[in-house]
Amino acid sequence: MKRNDSIYQLAVAGVQQLVPYKPGKPIEELERELGLKRVVKLASNENPLGPSKKAMAAIQAELPQLSLYPDGSGYRLKNALARKFDVDPAQITLGNGSNEILELVARAFLTPELEVLFSQHAFAVYPIVTQAVGATAVVVPALNFGHDLAAMLHKVNEKTRLVFIANPNNPTGTLLAQADLQRFIEALPETCICVLDEAYFEFVADRGQDDSIAWLRKYPNLIITRTFSKAYGLAGLRVGYSFSSPEMADILNRVRQPFNNNTLALVAAEAALEDTEHLQNTLQVNTLGMQQLTEGFKNLGLKWIPSAGNFVSVDLSEPGQPIYEALLRKGIIVRPVANYEMPNHLRVSIGTAEENQLFLQALTDCLNNV
Ligand SMILES: *Cc1c(COP(=O)(O)O)cnc(C)c1O
Repeated sequence: MKRNDSIYQLAVAGVQQLVPYKPGKPIEELERELGLKRVVKLASNENPLGPSKKAMAAIQAELPQLSLYPDGSGYRLKNALARKFDVDPAQITLGNGSNEILELVARAFLTPELEVLFSQHAFAVYPIVTQAVGATAVVVPALNFGHDLAAMLHKVNEKTRLVFIANPNNPTGTLLAQADLQRFIEALPETCICVLDEAYFEFVADRGQDDSIAWLRKYPNLIITRTFSKAYGLAGLRVGYSFSSPEMADILNRVRQPFNNNTLALVAAEAALEDTEHLQNTLQVNTLGMQQLTEGFKNLGLKWIPSAGNFVSVDLSEPGQPIYEALLRKGIIVRPVANYEMPNHLRVSIGTAEENQLFLQALTDCLNNV
């Protein structure tokens, strides 16, 4: 079909320049391309144990209701979250993945006159939602791959409406101390909203004394986002949520689609939240897998960024793209992170012991042969 370039001129300025998010390669796609039978995907920080059986049973039980619209208020899931984390249901916003919440915040609060602050190597969705609404992204150089909070604070001015902080951060896995983070939020002007992205919250074994939820009482400009996609193993259903002041939740609710979470997602997330055994198994597999992978890296003489998440970025001391492609040919999908300004790293999600072993063996072969 003939490409109609003039249509691009009609898009808003930010969208004209926008480079879409690049997801991890789907297993089926690689199987199709290479005719492989066994593909190991360690590319999107998904749960290697699969979803909770309780979540699957809840979906099965809900199927006869699918002719009805979902509960647009998410009453049951919000109440389950409120009980578990000791917040008021009015403080919760549900999203189609926590990515949607990031977008709701951008839509509700940004204009082309305003600035958004985030760190170098921070999650790729922050620049996308910023650019889509035409706001200006201010990227602050990282400190040892993590957030340089002092430098970030320095960049805050009267035009800064939003700061994104991922803790732990993806793809670096770096973790800020809660005390440092609170000091940062405390120092922000009231006109600047802080989105604290805790997509990997469950993997952080020891967060120190403070839970960020307690800060919500003091900071009406704070939004904490979390997700069922990672530790809870429900990435395919798209369920994320945020905790904030009720006023903030009210604002986000105004720009939200009325049925942004589908029925199956709502019941599965509620069931997964109760499945503490699945979560414990997940955390244990992650701890052991992290040891297995980092030990493997050490044996290969490779460095890595110590990670608090369910993934680790390894430094190959050479461009990662050719190794990524060589791994693909062996049926292993990991994530190149050159688009995060980390051209020599590959990000590897923690898999099962067997998947980790297959990856390490393939990596050893690739490094010896490229
Ligand atoms: C995976 C991820 C998310 C969100 O994923 P959803 O599936 O949209 O909930 C958000 N932030 C970071 C840093 C992530 O890595």
